[in-house]
Amino acid sequence: MNIDGPWRNAAHGAGLLGSDGTPAATIFAEMSALAVRTGAINLGQGFPDEDGPVEVLDAARRAISDGENQYGAGMGHPLLRSAIADHQRRFYAQALDPDREILVTAGATEALAATLLALVERGDEVVTFEPFYDAYGALIALAGAKHVTVPLRAPDFAPDLDELARAVNDRTKVILVNDPHNPTGATLGDAAKRRIIELAERHNAYIVTDEVYEHLRFETPHVPIATLPGAVERTISISSGGKTFSTTGWKIGWAMARPELIQAILAVKQFLTFVSGTPFQPAIAAGLALPDSFFAGVADTLRAKRDLLSTGLRGAGFHVFESRATYFVVTDVSPLGFTDAVEFCRDLPQRAGVVAIPLSAFYTAEHRGDAASLVRFAFCKKFDVLDDAVARLGALVAA
Ligand SMILES: *Cc1c(COP(=O)(O)O)cnc(C)c1O
Repeated sequence: MNIDGPWRNAAHGAGLLGSDGTPAATIFAEMSALAVRTGAINLGQGFPDEDGPVEVLDAARRAISDGENQYGAGMGHPLLRSAIADHQRRFYAQALDPDREILVTAGATEALAATLLALVERGDEVVTFEPFYDAYGALIALAGAKHVTVPLRAPDFAPDLDELARAVNDRTKVILVNDPHNPTGATLGDAAKRRIIELAERHNAYIVTDEVYEHLRFETPHVPIATLPGAVERTISISSGGKTFSTTGWKIGWAMARPELIQAILAVKQFLTFVSGTPFQPAIAAGLALPDSFFAGVADTLRAKRDLLSTGLRGAGFHVFESRATYFVVTDVSPLGFTDAVEFCRDLPQRAGVVAIPLSAFYTAEHRGDAASLVRFAFCKKFDVLDDAVARLGALVAA
């Protein structure tokens, strides 16, 4: 049966429509299946293999025992909204009204989907960096918009500000910024952020930020675009508890913006999920209220893991680009004698017992060539798992 509908746009936006018009499996699914089949260490998908803070886990159990198991408030649990407001004030000196400027969503993903579906019309343009988180391409296509990208190139994966300026015009409805950046581990500099605000103002575009890695930074603290001059009126800031608290399966996210913008996003969100994750919401509130030392500790631990894996990869002959944030580090496999990262990743479980993801998974079909020999590894795994992975990858040189 030939099934028609907007799903084709989504699949096409995610680069998943095969030449015969049927959807292909994502490389993530293919690589995870390969990891299971071969018993390889999965450094492909970005989820932690350890539980997060016990305070957060206990708070969820308690909420279930206390009967927080039904539909909650449409805007989100009042405890969570007030914890988000406190968190924004503590870390960014940002003042938000928890009743009108914060909307709790089913992960950052639903916040992104509801925001784009609320604001973007057929034919509008949405600008993102490239490589980009795979959901962006699919959601932009689902909204019927045109996806315009600005390349981030090795070694530092920083945007060229002139290329950025050329990508934004009067048809641009949204500049969607992922900072810190998955898959490259780059953080956006101050000049780039200011240029984004300037361009959005000049062309009357919204700025949507995806800041799910806000606390997983290894050098400088995070500065949300919304807190810079001229940004707050047109910016929707999006984050989530999944990455910070190692609870990626809970899908508790949020959007922060001026009340009129939140109302527009809510109008869509209430018919996507209405509400979700009732007992997890007070638990993420407990997480956001943890002392500064917790947040510093998360970054310290992850920095040590980044160092362990990066050093190991260098020792194994990879060219390693420095990761400044997130769960991920990008490498070039050409020093090992490989030119095709997809082929390299398909063979790696057999050759070394490790799974990684070709960076081309984060590019449009047109620009995949830019990432021909680049491979992303995740380091959000236990130290002994990373040690084992490094030992296995070391065998690549020996072989
Ligand atoms: C993991 C991730 C998300 C998804 O967040 P959820 O809260 O799980 O929906 C969104 N954006 C980026 C860049 C991510 O890496």
